[in-house]
Amino acid sequence: MNTMQLINLLRFANLFTILSLAIVIVLLTIVLILKIDKIKKLQTMVDKLRKSLEEMDEQAKLIVRTDIELNKAQEELDKKITGLYALQRLSRIISTTLEESQIFKVIESTSFEDLGFEKAWVLLWDDKENKFIPQLNIGYLHDEIETIKPQVNSDKDIYLDLIKTGKTFSSISAPHNTAWREKINHIFKVNSFVVSPILPKEGSKGFFFVGTENMDVAITEGDEELITILSNQIGQALENARLFEKTWHAQQELEKKVEERTRELTFALDEVKKINKRKTDFISSVSHELRTPLTSIKGYAAILIEEKLGHLPPAAKERLEKINRHSDELVHMVNDLLDIARIESGRAIMKMEEQDLKTIISNVADLISIQCKNKNIELIASIQKDIPPVLADRVQLERVFINLLGNAVKFTPENGKITIKAHSQDNVIQVDISDTGIGIPPDSLSMIFEEFYRVDNPINQQVKGTGLGLSLVKHIIEAHKGKIWAESKQGKGSTFSFTLPVE
Ligand code: ADP
Repeated sequence: MNTMQLINLLRFANLFTILSLAIVIVLLTIVLILKIDKIKKLQTMVDKLRKSLEEMDEQAKLIVRTDIELNKAQEELDKKITGLYALQRLSRIISTTLEESQIFKVIESTSFEDLGFEKAWVLLWDDKENKFIPQLNIGYLHDEIETIKPQVNSDKDIYLDLIKTGKTFSSISAPHNTAWREKINHIFKVNSFVVSPILPKEGSKGFFFVGTENMDVAITEGDEELITILSNQIGQALENARLFEKTWHAQQELEKKVEERTRELTFALDEVKKINKRKTDFISSVSHELRTPLTSIKGYAAILIEEKLGHLPPAAKERLEKINRHSDELVHMVNDLLDIARIESGRAIMKMEEQDLKTIISNVADLISIQCKNKNIELIASIQKDIPPVLADRVQLERVFINLLGNAVKFTPENGKITIKAHSQDNVIQVDISDTGIGIPPDSLSMIFEEFYRVDNPINQQVKGTGLGLSLVKHIIEAHKGKIWAESKQGKGSTFSFTLPVE
C-alpha cells in the first residue's frame, strides 16, 4: 500500500470516526431530549404529588382541629348533662323542702360540685341587722368565711343594686367591669364565677354565688342559665317555705283560738245547762206548789156550784163557773209545764211499745171531728197501706196528735181542710199535718217551738192559749229520738212534720 492509499485510508477512517461520533451524538441528543421530557413529566407528577400531599396535610390538620373541637363540645355537653342532672336533683329536693333553713342544708348535702363549681355562697339581706347573712357556703374554710363576710358587707350597696337588677352576671357577662370582676375573684378566691339574684316574693332577698378556682374551667352561657334556674328555684322554695310557715302559724293561731272558743263555749254551755236545770227545777216546784191550791180552789168551786152549801144567786154561780174554767186552764198549763220539766230533766218515763199509727190517728180524729164539724173543716187522713208499727209511748204520741190537730183546727178558718199524711222511709216514719189556715210569718217559724211563744195574730187575740203546746210536742218527739219542724205560707196554711224511728 502506497502512501496515498494509506492517507486515503486514514481519511476514510477519520471520516468514519467522525460520522460515527456524529451518529452517537445525534443518538445521545435524542436520548437526552427524551430523558428531559420524561424528567419534566416526572417533575409535573412530583409537583402534583406535593400539592396533593400539602392538601392532605391541610385536611389532616382540619380533621385534628375538628376532632379537638368535637372533644371540647363533647366535654361541654357532658358537663352540661352532669350539671342538668345535678340541677334536677337539687330542684327536686329543694322544691319539697318546706323549712327555710333546711333548703340550704339540703343543697350543702348534695353533690354540689356536679354543677361544675366547687365553691358557693348564698347570702340573704337582713333588714333588721342591715347586712347580708350567709345561709350557705360550700368549699370555704372557716377563716375564709370570716374574712369574706365583712368584705361583702362593706360593698353591700353594690350587691343590693345587683339584686335589684334581677339579672344574673358572670365572669363572661360582666366584661365591661373588669375591676369589679377582679374584685369578686379576689374576695371569693376564685378565677371565674356566676352571681344570680334570689328574689322570693315573700321576705328577704339575696344572691347566689358560685365560683371555681380551676383556671381551665371556662364559664359558659349554659352555666349562667343553669345558675339562674337554680337561684329561681331557691327563690321559689324560700317563698313556699315562708308561705307555709305563715299558714302554719295562722293555723296554730286559729287552732288556739278554736280551743279557747271551745273552752268558752263549753263553759257557757255548762252555765246554760245549769241555768236550764235551775229553771226546770223552779218551774217544776212552782207547778207542784200551784197544783195543791188549784185543786182546792177547783174543789171548793165545785162544792159551791153544786150548791151543796146552799143556794147561790145566778150572778155568783156564773162567777164561780168562770173560776172553775180558769182553774181548769191553770191546771192544764201547770200539767203541761210539769211534763215539759219532767221530759227535760229526763225524769219522764216513756212506755215504749209498738204502736199502730192508723189506730192512733183514727182515735184522735174521732176526738177532733166535732170541732171540725163545727167549723165545717174537712179532715183527710192518707196513711201508707203497709206502714210499719212505730215504737212510742201511746199516751204521749196521742198528745202530739191532739196538740197539732187542735192547733190546725184553731188556726184554720171555716170550710178549710186538714190533711194527715204518714209514710215510712229508711227506718223512719214521717207524719205531715197540713192545714189551709192563716199560716205563720217566716220570722216566727223558728220560735213557735219555744215555751210561751205565741204569734201575734187575730186568732190568738180571741182564743186563749198558753204557748206551751208546741214546746211539749217537741220535747215528746225528741224524747222518742225523732225530729219536728214546720213549714208555712202566710195566708195559705202550715204543715207540721215529725219523724219517729221505726222499731
Ligand atoms: P198555743 O196554741 O197555746 O198558742 P202552741 O205552742 O201550740 O201554743 O203554738 C204556739 C204558736 O204557734 C201559736 O200561738 C200560733 O201562733 C202558732 N201556731 C201553732 N200551730 C199553728 C197552725 N197550725 N197554724 C198557724 N199558727 C200556728
